[in-house]
Amino acid sequence: MKYDAIVLGVGGMGSATVYELAKRGKKVLGLERFNIAHDSGSSHGINRIIRLAYAEDPRYVPLVRRAYERWREIENLISERLLFITGGIDAGPEQGEIIQGSLRACREHSLPHERLDSADLRRRFPGYAFPKEKELVAVYQPDGGFVLSERAIIGYVMAAQALGAEIHARECVGQWEAKKDQVVVHTDRGSYTADSLVITAGPWAAQAVPELKAGRLKAGRLAVPERQVLIWTQPLRPEYFMMGRFPVFNMEAADDTATNRYYGFPVYGFPGFKMGRYHHLSEEVDPDRMDRDCHRKDEETLREAIRVYFPDADGPTMAMKTCLFTNSPDEHFILDLHPGFPNVSIAAGFSGHGFKFASVVGEIMADFALEGGHKRFDLDLFRVARARKPAGSQNQ
Ligand SMILES: Cc1cc2nc3c(=O)[nH]c(=O)nc-3n(C[C@H](O)[C@H](O)[C@H](O)COP(=O)(O)OP(=O)(O)OC[C@H]3O[C@@H](n4cnc5c(N)ncnc54)[C@H](O)[C@@H]3O)c2cc1C
Repeated sequence: MKYDAIVLGVGGMGSATVYELAKRGKKVLGLERFNIAHDSGSSHGINRIIRLAYAEDPRYVPLVRRAYERWREIENLISERLLFITGGIDAGPEQGEIIQGSLRACREHSLPHERLDSADLRRRFPGYAFPKEKELVAVYQPDGGFVLSERAIIGYVMAAQALGAEIHARECVGQWEAKKDQVVVHTDRGSYTADSLVITAGPWAAQAVPELKAGRLKAGRLAVPERQVLIWTQPLRPEYFMMGRFPVFNMEAADDTATNRYYGFPVYGFPGFKMGRYHHLSEEVDPDRMDRDCHRKDEETLREAIRVYFPDADGPTMAMKTCLFTNSPDEHFILDLHPGFPNVSIAAGFSGHGFKFASVVGEIMADFALEGGHKRFDLDLFRVARARKPAGSQNQ
């Protein structure tokens, strides 16, 4: 049987892409090596932050706006709430990257926001107890919140199936071949042919597209998996960390380590305040061999920050989970056609901040698959070629 498109990997990005292709009346096959919504990739752990004051680069703001619209659309379709608005805090030293980046995004896109010093912040949202001597300030942006990531994958898959999409879980793609007018995908159960292939393989992106590894495109390493750890702690003052009382946060701590950024959520869906540290212990890993257990060192690393910045959340541990980032060198995404095959496209390298965009990434990848490109948003920031080094230079 021949498909219009095959989607390799039905996680956050793949599930939205399968849905979008099915919505456009296409015959689509989604292939997923694990279960639909599983704990081995990048999208588990209940929820993911969505924020509009995009400190990483203001060029993300139009994309996030579209993502909000598309989250509302899928919610309506499946009659399930996926997007929760809690307000969002960006915090850090006044001249740090987060505060300056967040303010820049607010200015350039006229986003409603408030600047708060740490005393104002505590008065308003008492879970935030930044010590005075750390001299942290905050930007409050009322549109921040979170998306239920695992439920979103399930919702997209069910919506896609209702539109006729075929999805196979527990079927692993091995090789694929692209020819001029078709692609053939080989799995551990069979082979399938389609007009185009979309690769949304998360931490396995560089296995599915070896050109993303060093040495092929002279592009550096574009999709490097990294071990992450999440913790949920029982708050000592539960009322401070409830929904409605505690906005999600994205914070740069007042120290000079390379991994000094943290993020967190109000209590939702699990009996605990959830937080994590970007790039946790800076452990580059092979996703097939990663240590998936959580250890004392992981716990201590996260607790240290809870003790200092959120002391009223420093109760017993309720749960911990490992997860994976897939980092590009500049931490911007890869949304592009495969450099060698115009009928193959890639969404990868989400560098720990991609989920919120899944709803719009689905739309973009469907355009790549069906039209060979995307016109609505400027995607220059996400091209494979941006990372290309001058010919003759060494990859590392
Ligand atoms: C701890 C943590 C916290 C995060 N916090 C946030 C946040 O607050 N906000 C935010 O926006 N983002 C956040 N992110 C990032 C976000 O979760 C990821 O960018 C996003 O989940 C990536 O989605 P994906 O579809 O690329 O990967 P995945 O959801 O992992 O999907 C890839 C899928 O491909 C499948 N696959 C791979 N290879 C094959 C194969 N050969 N055959 C078949 N199937 C295959 C995998 O099994 C997997 O299901 C966080 C990530 C982590 C780990």
